[in-house]
Amino acid sequence: MNSPVVLVTEDDAPVRNLIVTTLKTHEYRYLTANNGAEAVMMASSHNPDVLFLDLGLPDMDGIDVIRQIRSWSNMPIIVISARSDDADKIEALDAGADDYLTKPFSVEELLARLRVTIRRLALISADKGADRSVYANGKLTIDFSAGVACLDGEELKLTSMEYKLLCLLARNTGKVLTHTYITQSIWGRSWDNDVASLRVFMTTLRKKIEPRPDSPKYIQTHIGIGYRMLKVD
Ligand code: CA
Repeated sequence: MNSPVVLVTEDDAPVRNLIVTTLKTHEYRYLTANNGAEAVMMASSHNPDVLFLDLGLPDMDGIDVIRQIRSWSNMPIIVISARSDDADKIEALDAGADDYLTKPFSVEELLARLRVTIRRLALISADKGADRSVYANGKLTIDFSAGVACLDGEELKLTSMEYKLLCLLARNTGKVLTHTYITQSIWGRSWDNDVASLRVFMTTLRKKIEPRPDSPKYIQTHIGIGYRMLKVD
């Protein structure tokens, strides 16, 4: 793919300049928006590959920007905000953001998050041409129509709950899924008990798919928030 276009939505000029300079230095293309309305307009007229979004905007809350864009687009949205509470991160992710970076951030962290998101884009565009019923990531494969997951060609012995969890994360590779989103998707509800059960299923699933469950390479934990399947080379 060509160098991705990032729409940077940030009303604070020094922060916006830092982000833009970082993108330029690393040969990403970019557009800028200074408020929410402009972000929504530019997202629809320019169809950027990725949106960087500040939540504290002068004209509207960034959460509403996410909701508006999500009503017609799946473009990856990375929130970059000073709001550092887990509740704020969860609200943004549940509204449809893919990832969340807290200010002050390091340039390296920003680039790392962007790379994860671009791998997700590559995966989505590869899926479009290929057979959507088979998922491949590193040594992990899932044949959705057969209901079989394999690691290094060996069929995994997963319980139905582990399999559901793996499929949900795989279908959202690159995106942080909140505990609420996962439990709602799997059990259709989200009770405190469900989050505790989710941790247990995650532990048993990791033992089966991760070469080293104590330093997982497929499923990343976001403490207090949720989990994300990473694209593994
Ligand atoms: Ca701001």
